[in-house]
Amino acid sequence: MLASRIIDIDIHARRGGFALDVGFQADGGLTALFGRSGAGKSTVIAAVAGLVRPERGRIAIGGTTLFDAATGLFVPPHRRRIGLVFQDAQLLPHLSVRQNLAYGRWFAPRDARRLDFDAAVEVLGIGALLARRPASLSGGERQRVAIGRALLSAPRILLMDEPLAALDVPRKREILPLIERLRDEFAIPILYVSHAMEEVARLASQVVLIEAGRVQAVGAPETVLGPLAGSPSDTRFNTVS
Ligand code: ADP
Ligand code: MG
Repeated sequence: MLASRIIDIDIHARRGGFALDVGFQADGGLTALFGRSGAGKSTVIAAVAGLVRPERGRIAIGGTTLFDAATGLFVPPHRRRIGLVFQDAQLLPHLSVRQNLAYGRWFAPRDARRLDFDAAVEVLGIGALLARRPASLSGGERQRVAIGRALLSAPRILLMDEPLAALDVPRKREILPLIERLRDEFAIPILYVSHAMEEVARLASQVVLIEAGRVQAVGAPETVLGPLAGSPSDTRFNTVS
């Protein structure tokens, strides 16, 4: 329990018949939750976002405790200052891109160090899209806007759950450098879920391997992914993407 770590999670949660028992700590950069479908990655994200309440344990992000079963502390989702990006952008369909971005910014506390609206628009390359509605955008454009909306809420951390999974390869190639810029240039801590090894190998500062609701390994990408990649008979993670 070190308040100095950016991510400090130790939880036991149930979801239907599924039991999640996960503990790990991580610093800044991009921490990848990696593992096959059904391992419990999205349940971890849901617990950090406050959408699932664990039965036991504790969640602290950036030195702030968001959940502590021992004291009954449960910060509600809208007060957690968490930026969420899912596989499906989940933009508000009746609002323009500009209004979707403004909606994100509305959640930022007044005293938070805000990312400037114009800077976000420039980084994400969505300046030409501001007047458009989500339905008229490509999948990649929608994901850019979703990332922008999350960033403008001045989050403590960006939670990204398979953000590239629904995109074709050219679109993935467009968005990958963007995520790298957020990680490096803007130094935004990211908790990133993926089952695609190439993505994790490229983006992660640190990898948490999850299997059947438990942490199997934590460490540098080479350390955690190396043994998996080196096993030709183990095709579980060799997702072509
Ligand atoms: P992953 O993201 O690694 O694919 P999930 O966290 O989505 O895994 O799922 C872990 C387990 O929790 C699975 O067995 C899944 O069936 C179950 N689960 C996920 N969401 C729900 C839900 N809303 N209600 C009940 N069970 C769920
Ligand atoms: Mg998932």
